[in-house]
Amino acid sequence: MEKRIYNFNAGPAILPEEVLQEAQENLMALPGVGMSILEISHRSKPFDDVINQAKADIKKLLDISDDYSIMFLQFGASLQFSMVPMNIMPPKNKADYIVTGSWSKKAVKEAKRVGAVNIAATTEETTFNRIQKQDELKLSGDVSYVHFTSNNTIYGTQYKSEPEVGDVTLVCDASSDIFHKKIDVNKYGIIYAGAQKNMGPSGVTMVIYRNDLLERSSDDLPTMLNYKTQVENDSMFNTPNTFGIYIIGLVTKWLLNMGGLDKMYETNKHKAGILYDCIDNSNGFYKGHAEEDSRSLMNVTFNLPTEGLEKKLIAETLYAGFSGLKGHRSVGGLRASIYNAFPTKGVEDLVEFMNDFQAKNS
Ligand SMILES: *Cc1c(COP(=O)(O)O)cnc(C)c1O
Repeated sequence: MEKRIYNFNAGPAILPEEVLQEAQENLMALPGVGMSILEISHRSKPFDDVINQAKADIKKLLDISDDYSIMFLQFGASLQFSMVPMNIMPPKNKADYIVTGSWSKKAVKEAKRVGAVNIAATTEETTFNRIQKQDELKLSGDVSYVHFTSNNTIYGTQYKSEPEVGDVTLVCDASSDIFHKKIDVNKYGIIYAGAQKNMGPSGVTMVIYRNDLLERSSDDLPTMLNYKTQVENDSMFNTPNTFGIYIIGLVTKWLLNMGGLDKMYETNKHKAGILYDCIDNSNGFYKGHAEEDSRSLMNVTFNLPTEGLEKKLIAETLYAGFSGLKGHRSVGGLRASIYNAFPTKGVEDLVEFMNDFQAKNS
């Protein structure tokens, strides 16, 4: 087999090796089925087992009660920017959005097509280098929901705990940190996440949905964009991304087998700590983009003294077998995406490389 290199890409991103191996082993024929997951009907008993097991395991991982449904939809997290307001902005037709990065801004743009949006806070003036404190939020109170982005993939900032919104429905885009730790789902109305960062392949988006919100969805909505359709038809009104759901199921099983999300969180903190320590101990050679208390455990963003050195480092990492470290164009510099599946050894090797680079270039 071709040697695997370290994959620091932001998304689609690294998947657990065990998951890829199991998928490969069973690609020709699912055990007991004799056909590939790529070939079987979404209406078949074997696929029923796949999707039901995935849902049951997700519920177990996050302790999700029966008040919630789990959907697997298509068109990415980006479609949820529209589906959320179309379905739950009525009847008040108002929502609060906390803006912490480019993805939040895109969510705002779509919500404005449906109703009134209050920007409860934004950190754009400092290139989204931090998460707002609770007392900075200008929440309206009388709105249909508050929307926030739990991890800002591009800027490398992350909420430590969700914003307090009182009785108002809380909606979260958790695309790039879902499953990185245990959260209390009961605090949320909707959590959505494109799978391709921390949960599976692209082409499938998981939506965790509190069932009482369904009554807000108007029957006038386009059938496919109505959450009622998706919940009532178990995400199978049309043909879902069967392979994507299967891989999410394997990733979920992998998380359960390794000890669940508390364990995963410990590993993530340790892993990110190694990299942030390297940055903090570099005497300013490496400079983190995010303020310290807003740092993401998933996407570590940093700059070097000059753009020339950044280019040089990126070029050298490619030779050394590290892929995907170039930062997003809106921040520049470097970004190391170290999602759940990323091995600690890979972070240690990167740090060794960075220390070496600093010694040679400062
Ligand atoms: C990647 C990303 C998106 C967009 O996801 P798609 O599935 O490509 O639509 C939205 N929000 C966040 C936080 C992301 O990281």
